[in-house]
Amino acid sequence: MRIDLHTHSSASDGTDSPAQLMRAAAAAGLDVVAITDHDTTAGWAEAFANRPAGLTVVPGIEMSCVYRGERRISLHLLGYFADPANDELQAEWARLRDGRLIRGRQMADNLEAAGYPISWAQVSALANGAPIGRPHLGRALVEAGVVPDVDAAFRELLSSRQPYYVRKADSDVFDAIRLICGAGGLPVFAHPLARRRGPVVSDEVVAQMAAAGLVGLEVDHPDQDPDDRADAARLARDLDLIPTGSSDYHGTNKRTPIAACTTDPDAFARLLELPAALVPVAD
Ligand code: AMP
Ligand code: FE
Ligand code: ZN
Ligand code: FE
Repeated sequence: MRIDLHTHSSASDGTDSPAQLMRAAAAAGLDVVAITDHDTTAGWAEAFANRPAGLTVVPGIEMSCVYRGERRISLHLLGYFADPANDELQAEWARLRDGRLIRGRQMADNLEAAGYPISWAQVSALANGAPIGRPHLGRALVEAGVVPDVDAAFRELLSSRQPYYVRKADSDVFDAIRLICGAGGLPVFAHPLARRRGPVVSDEVVAQMAAAGLVGLEVDHPDQDPDDRADAARLARDLDLIPTGSSDYHGTNKRTPIAACTTDPDAFARLLELPAALVPVAD
């Protein structure tokens, strides 16, 4: 059984429509795929409606969070099987999407003011109603011929080290865990030790997250090298968290193919044993 529990569609910052994402999952030989767009469930219905026979779809989302300790550390939380109609969750996602809109516009304006031939209108058209992410700015820069690909855009213009960068609104990680749990969802810490993305939280913080309701840790992820994965696996064992694996596929916005990393079927079975508001969509 091949299981990928973290992918993005064009409902957020991926390039495949939800229907295309389902076809890509089946073509890659996946038996289970989770659709985990940033701050939205807008892609779920199209994904479910276009699910190829034999493919199981896990409804999920991804939230960008912050841990406020001595320093501010950004981290990502996946939420599976949460009730999308939950009022508190809806309100928080709406706040995050509004924040992305304001921040995306500011970054587009910053780049335009610096002479790069892009505009907010172009970025907004590319996003086509999806919550704005830096990959949308990256694609605008590729279309304008400024950079060869989105990866180069991130390296040269979109990273937090660049003067064009603007921080976006995010959720306090403990609030986000409580919100997801409160909506009957299962929170999993995405790429917890992806050190090349920036500073990561300590084991102690992960233990606090587990105490707050976290159920799993993403162990196998393209941004975690073998040492990071070994550390994450050990931490998952120590804290009795479910170890997951996933590609974090973003279509052509990233080089990683779908199913690049996968979840062990036993780990997935553990996830399914936990009580949740929703169940997978399957045959
Ligand atoms: P944002 O959420 O708007 O701050 O943008 C971060 C998003 O861009 C995340 O979903 C990342 O997966 C994605 N991302 C980060 N680095 C890259 C990269 N080098 N190329 C393409 N996408 C990236
Ligand atoms: Fe993304
Ligand atoms: Zn992420
Ligand atoms: Fe992701």
